[in-house]
Amino acid sequence: MSSSDFLPLCVPRNKELTRFHGYITLWNQQYACEVDFNFQEKDGDKPTTKIRLDPELQRLLSTKQIQHQYNSTNQQSTYQDLLVQRLSQCKNYNSFFSELKDVLEKILKVQHTHKQPTVQDDLASTEYYKQIMSDLDEIGWDKVSDLNTDLSSISVSIKDIAGREHIIKVDVSKNNEYTCTAQLPIQAELKTKNNERITLKKIKIEYEHVLHSLQDFLSTVEDLDQNTWVLDPENPTFAHCMRRIGIGNHSSIQIEIDPKQPKAPPEVRFLGADSIITPIRDAYNQNHHEWVIDSSLRLNLERTMKITFPRRRTVTQNDDDMSEKCSICYSYRMEGKVPDKVCDTCCQPFHSMCLVEWLRSIPKSHTSFDTISGTCPYCSSAISAKVYNK
Ligand SMILES: [Zn+2]
Ligand SMILES: [Zn+2]
Repeated sequence: MSSSDFLPLCVPRNKELTRFHGYITLWNQQYACEVDFNFQEKDGDKPTTKIRLDPELQRLLSTKQIQHQYNSTNQQSTYQDLLVQRLSQCKNYNSFFSELKDVLEKILKVQHTHKQPTVQDDLASTEYYKQIMSDLDEIGWDKVSDLNTDLSSISVSIKDIAGREHIIKVDVSKNNEYTCTAQLPIQAELKTKNNERITLKKIKIEYEHVLHSLQDFLSTVEDLDQNTWVLDPENPTFAHCMRRIGIGNHSSIQIEIDPKQPKAPPEVRFLGADSIITPIRDAYNQNHHEWVIDSSLRLNLERTMKITFPRRRTVTQNDDDMSEKCSICYSYRMEGKVPDKVCDTCCQPFHSMCLVEWLRSIPKSHTSFDTISGTCPYCSSAISAKVYNK
């Protein structure tokens, strides 16, 4: 069933095909309308079909003159009641829309001669909708996961070979050009020969190529997200190449994964108390020969660092140990940043900025170049922080 079976310029708004958004032409003017169908009502039940009309059309319809002419028995009822009453008899989409057009045109006829043509919105041009509708029919409605009312934004769902779903957000400009983004580190390049128009099908094909080239990257980050405790980003997606992974004892590693070489040894930043971090950093630097390119990034990191990443759900005894709340402000995230400084002696984690504030507030601190030094607020041992921290 294609959308053009119902009414020209009418798009389904749900998968059950009971809600439609479209444009109805009345006396050569187009008006937006949205209809919620319910044909399943039993006799005697109040029909629940709902119609929402263009505000301009509503204004025209709701004048007293119209109500009077069509509602002589009940002055309180509105054109909506009248529509619902007549349209509830319809048993299919075609009869519904032809009845709708008939009723509305009759009502409007009264005022038609006085009415100035409404200024047509650029977006409402027939060609614009026809083009997008044919693009949507071409890729198939099952691939459309979301669609906004004026068709200026379309979400297309595609799957990679491992069955992971990815959403391409397509924005439609007024001159009918598509721009798109997906939550991926690389976006598709949309170029065509001879200035051909880019269709939704072309976008889908190009993104399928991108997904194909990113298979290793997608599996690598999915494995990390499922089997380690990712502290940052808070809600990691495939668009993020960075992962900060908890390793216990208020310590973590931060890695940047190259989407083109996701299994290669990454740049690692070690965060935490020196006593915890130093042996892990040394092991990583010394055991590069143990890196097996066929193995996963996670297993290679564990093998070379001689550690096992704790999982988010398996750490039950010492949750505080992983959540790394700043011991000065008692929050985890402050201005989007997570604690990145740990006292070497007592292992308390701090946001650098909180620690700088603390050190500035105590009389015994001193600043040299970009480093402020003083004592830990918990154990009073020496601690320092960079004043300029990005
Ligand atoms: Zn803090
Ligand atoms: Zn301390």
